[in-house]
Amino acid sequence: MDEIDAAQKAERLFREGALASMRRPKAATREGLTHCVDCGEEIPEKRRLAVPNCCRCLECQEEHERGDTWR
Ligand SMILES: [Zn+2]
Repeated sequence: MDEIDAAQKAERLFREGALASMRRPKAATREGLTHCVDCGEEIPEKRRLAVPNCCRCLECQEEHERGDTWR
């Protein structure tokens, strides 16, 4: 049950994030995005510098890596 909920939530967040990043393509900096494409939270600068091409906050990135249920 929880897995399904999480997958649906992730899918919804992913879609919202994809739409948001299409609307705001200029949110990208040379370090990557400043805000998580999934939840819109600001990605801590430390993380952006540590992971140059990251586009998600740690929480969403973990969720993203855990669930490949979108295919
Ligand atoms: Zn996030």
